[in-house]
Amino acid sequence: MNRREFAAALAALAAMPTAIGGTALALTQGASGHPRLLVSSAEWTSLATRRKADPDLDRFVALVLDRARKDLDRSQLERKLDGRRLLGVSREFIRRVLQWAFAFRTTGDVVFLDRARREMLAVAAFPDWNPSHYLDVAEMTAGMAIGYDWLFNELPADARATIRQAIVGNGIGQARNGHKTFRSTNNWSQVCIGGMVLGALAVRDDEPALARDLLAAAQKDVFIGLSAYKPDGVYPEGPGYWSYGTTYSVLLIAALRNAGMSDWGVLAAPGFAGSAEFYAHSIGPSAKHFNFADGNEGQELPSPIVYLARELNQPALLTAKRDMIRKNQGVADRFAPLSILWWPAAESAPLPPLSYAGQGPQPVAIWRSSWTDPDAFWFAIKGGGAGHNHGHMDAGSFVLDMDGLRWAKDLGMQDYLSLESRGIDLWNMKQDSSRWKVFRLGSDAHNTLTVSGQPHSATAMASLRMVSDREALIDLAQVLGLRQATRRARFSNDAVEIEDQIEGATPGRDIRWAMCTEADIRIEGKTAILSQKGKLLHARFDGDTTRLEIRDISAPRSEIDHANPNTRQLIAVAPAGADSGWRLGVRFTRG
Ligand SMILES: [Zn+2]
Repeated sequence: MNRREFAAALAALAAMPTAIGGTALALTQGASGHPRLLVSSAEWTSLATRRKADPDLDRFVALVLDRARKDLDRSQLERKLDGRRLLGVSREFIRRVLQWAFAFRTTGDVVFLDRARREMLAVAAFPDWNPSHYLDVAEMTAGMAIGYDWLFNELPADARATIRQAIVGNGIGQARNGHKTFRSTNNWSQVCIGGMVLGALAVRDDEPALARDLLAAAQKDVFIGLSAYKPDGVYPEGPGYWSYGTTYSVLLIAALRNAGMSDWGVLAAPGFAGSAEFYAHSIGPSAKHFNFADGNEGQELPSPIVYLARELNQPALLTAKRDMIRKNQGVADRFAPLSILWWPAAESAPLPPLSYAGQGPQPVAIWRSSWTDPDAFWFAIKGGGAGHNHGHMDAGSFVLDMDGLRWAKDLGMQDYLSLESRGIDLWNMKQDSSRWKVFRLGSDAHNTLTVSGQPHSATAMASLRMVSDREALIDLAQVLGLRQATRRARFSNDAVEIEDQIEGATPGRDIRWAMCTEADIRIEGKTAILSQKGKLLHARFDGDTTRLEIRDISAPRSEIDHANPNTRQLIAVAPAGADSGWRLGVRFTRG
């Protein structure tokens, strides 16, 4: 939406009748005890006041309402699988139903109620929600539960009964005594438990025994998936998957609390609440993620960062999200109405520290020169490696922002269907798996070291130790299969230095340093001058035998790979010395 369209949308909203006798009624809990899922009566009724006090929140609401109205014309969802997944349909269903239920409750316009009802009845008529890929069931149940609850008092009795039967028959009835997904150690456990509990809480008046059994089964397994946050909140599947898994754990917390129950200790689980800091630090001034593992660069406005910023009383964790709203972004997230309802007051709050470090399977160090300067230096680097859920061969890899641009980038994930449909054994993480033949996932594509083109070890994980607040030491020896190999990263407000040292390499063997970038590169001696959008970054290398090269990686490397448009690698190669040692230093500064 451009500025003029946005102004028009605001004007249209202002002109809209504020109620057709229903707004005030729709915002309070009826005698039925609904609505009760996720949002308190106070959060609903205070929204108008909070909008007046916070222009960002006001704009966010206007954006969501505008989108809700534009989406009214969309054709109804159908049960169409994409490969083995119905997940895209489940997610679009959540997005639609939440925004229409929210739009009805805040404007009183029955056109939204009617559209949400029709969409829910269409999905209730699906023969199933694809239980062979249970995430699809869990997400569909979540959307259906929220729509059912938020609109309960206005839905006709027969629609209520149909929707409730679908929640039971296609959803929670299959997990009455738990489900195998509850015990997985990745985001699946969080999503499936969260979705099923929402379903149970929505219908428990009519299905008390079923709800009681399901809640007990969910509570029993809830900490299995939450172990991912130990010890410091660095989510091992990266910030994109943090948003996914944490969304459903925050839904669980909010749903239990609003049902008058305890949150089962989820918020206090080791590393869980603190993971909001990991997430906020993992977004650079370019507005892009440190997208290690199977992640994408692009950020969204996920509801858990809003909820946790409020719970932690750290509204400054939303700085990057306020910037998004001011650019009319942030409405693509399917739970955007929850972000609105949970939005904390815009109090002046201390900014987070400039340095962040956290341990776990994928340890990271992240530094920035400022939270408020859009041109700030920002650098993030990781240990860990391939041997974990959604892992890439990215031990030692780093990303770098300066002047609001990303200079060193991670190519990120490649969509799963494109690989599964070509026979890639995508979830086999062993050394000889075809997973590691995918360019973006292997060590060759990451901003790290490789020896003679050898892939990193698929099982070794690199430790990361903080030498000081702004210096990290990563041990790459096992990952590279060498006696000794370290990467040391130092940050100052206007420079980043990386120093790599190796012992025990075969003399004369080429050792390669690499970095992916969308910047143009010019090489002058031992210096690479990177340029994009009129800005310059210098990378000065040392070492007598170092050769600098540029490798175009924009075209797919093989038929299984996707293209990486406008992307190249800066490569520095030097042979190991006669004493089996090798050393390379590089210093990044503003040009
Ligand atoms: Zn990667």
